[in-house]
Amino acid sequence: MEKNIYENLKKIRKEISKNVTLVAVSKTKPQEDILEAYSAGQRIFGENKILEMSAKYEELPKDIEWHMIGHVQRNKVKYMASFVSLIHAVESEKLLKEINKRALQNDRVIDCLLQIHIADEQTKFGFSYQEVEDLISSKVYKKYENIRLVGFMGMATNTDDKDKVSSEFEMLNSFFCKMKNVDDNFKILSMGMSGDYKIAMEKGSNMIRVGSYIFGKRNYTK
Ligand SMILES: *Cc1c(COP(=O)(O)O)cnc(C)c1O
Repeated sequence: MEKNIYENLKKIRKEISKNVTLVAVSKTKPQEDILEAYSAGQRIFGENKILEMSAKYEELPKDIEWHMIGHVQRNKVKYMASFVSLIHAVESEKLLKEINKRALQNDRVIDCLLQIHIADEQTKFGFSYQEVEDLISSKVYKKYENIRLVGFMGMATNTDDKDKVSSEFEMLNSFFCKMKNVDDNFKILSMGMSGDYKIAMEKGSNMIRVGSYIFGKRNYTK
């Protein structure tokens, strides 16, 4: 993908409907790239490393909404608790407890999504459907008053098999629809990345996390 952030953003905005929120995934990308997207009107950015996100938060315009989309290390929650606007990948009750504690210290309520493991791969983090159902029906999450659970996140199997991806998203969406009846706060279904956001939107996603399609390939070696 050619690096033309402005054009890439324009293209993707044409493809998404109004009810879908675009999270521009800027992990590993320099501030100039984020500012280019910012000038094109983008205000929501996603990062997967807490320290990288807080460094960017310090330097960049304060009307940016920062989403933590990656795996969260409990001992680093304190570094983002004062500003993070949505945590996508909550996958244990211990983590809920820590986020709640840090949110309370900052006198905030932090919005969180529960990550559900929907892919085949063993490596992807997340709750099983059953665990989430148990957590929700037990109402234990309600005792964490400085957390608002607002929905679910899932990552499909990394495969060219579109039918497989499609059925994984479909299953997560039907779970989401069922849970919406249980709690009015469940409004967000975060699914879809550069390679599969179109399928995800067809299957009911209302929040997509798109990185390389906007910013170009990531260079992890730096
Ligand atoms: C990196 C990342 C993305 C974006 O991936 P792209 O393929 O570059 O769009 C989305 N979600 C999560 C959780 C990620 O870590």
